[in-house]
Amino acid sequence: MAAMRIVQKYGGTSVGSTELIRGVAGRVRKLYEEGHELVVVVSAMSGVTNRLLAQAAEISAQPAARELDSLLATGEQASAALLAMALAELEVPAISLLGHQLKISTDASYGRARIKSIDVSRIEEAFTQRQVVVAAGFQGVDAGQNITTLGRGGSDTTAVALAAALKADSCEILTDVRGVFTTDPRVCDDAVKLDRISYGEMLELASLGAKVLQIRSVEFASRYGVKVHVRSSFDEAEGTWVIAEEEDMEEILVSGVAFERDEAKVTVFGVPDTPGLAASTLGPVANAGIVIDVIVQNVSEEGRTDLTFTVPKKDLAATEEIVKGMLDDIGASGFSASPDVGKVSVVGLGMRNHAGVAVRMFEILAGEQINIQMITTSEIKISVVIDASEVDRAVKVLHREFIGGEQDGSIANTGR
Ligand code: ADP
Ligand code: ASP
Ligand code: MG
Repeated sequence: MAAMRIVQKYGGTSVGSTELIRGVAGRVRKLYEEGHELVVVVSAMSGVTNRLLAQAAEISAQPAARELDSLLATGEQASAALLAMALAELEVPAISLLGHQLKISTDASYGRARIKSIDVSRIEEAFTQRQVVVAAGFQGVDAGQNITTLGRGGSDTTAVALAAALKADSCEILTDVRGVFTTDPRVCDDAVKLDRISYGEMLELASLGAKVLQIRSVEFASRYGVKVHVRSSFDEAEGTWVIAEEEDMEEILVSGVAFERDEAKVTVFGVPDTPGLAASTLGPVANAGIVIDVIVQNVSEEGRTDLTFTVPKKDLAATEEIVKGMLDDIGASGFSASPDVGKVSVVGLGMRNHAGVAVRMFEILAGEQINIQMITTSEIKISVVIDASEVDRAVKVLHREFIGGEQDGSIANTGR
């Protein structure tokens, strides 16, 4: 095989112990010996990022965002150094490099920084010396030389961005499942591995809760045409290719079911129905950095209306504070909050040409006595907000009806 330029990324579970790190080094050595140029991006060992977050919370209810990023970046620093050592033990020359050493420049939004540019000269230099570059994922540096992090799951984005900047031949995301499945294989036994999925569908799945790829990594891949191969770090089996849309892809109606459990719902009652109502109600929430997801406004009765929206559960307390503080200003009569809602979505390119999917989805849920609280759609997805306790059951029935179980021919989907 001709020598290639390969970026590989190993997630937290795949580097979760020194034993596993040694295993990764062995896998990297094989590629090295085939003559390839290699960048290996690593996540923090599994559990480490959460542990660091918990420690920060023990010290401060609101740690400075800058210091939090400095802290979180240490998880990836440790695993990168350990992997470089493991490679050296196997006589593979390797150098670990952190975000600032890789010159991964980001904006200054700590905790969710965006990559602006990457200067690959240090990596090219390492390649000329036949070194493997072990890159700490998830981190960058802002214009003021402060350490930034890219948001949870951000090592995926490090890998895809490096692959784009290096014009790599291949970008592999190695993880603890065999690829991208029709739904989370941990929730639904019938989940089927997809052989390929379009950027557009993967973007929807990722933004609707399928954390197998960070959403920004898919945006990068789509923008720069990086073909991403998601596969298991524990075997060599072919995984899932995330690629540009191909002609036959629309033939499949629903390619995946995604879900989120940790949402909350807020309703503001009796808001005067005048132009600017949504802006003045939702503006203060959004300005506090809270991501508002589904929004529904009721038909106005006697000039007053109700506005319902969802936010991440972790932001509910802050949202309630904000809403309480503005009731008088906007002339609303009150509000209610529910901390236990979830969202289930079906995604597929085939929906563009088939109108019936939404109605079938509602019928299936009705048949299960699952009450739909809110509905939102786009060209290739339909999402419903339901009670959090019903999310798993909804995922299973929707998967069975739209995609099929082991029993009734899910094999038909494996070609995709
Ligand atoms: P890593 O640590 O390798 O980055 P993550 O935990 O971030 O791994 O992502 C992999 C996990 O994503 C899987 O273990 C699986 O539970 C979950 N997941 C959710 N939806 C899907 C899906 N549609 N296909 C595959 N995995 C999924
Ligand atoms: N360690 C970070 C996280 O847990 C980044 C990553 O794993 O991609 O979110
Ligand atoms: Mg991840």
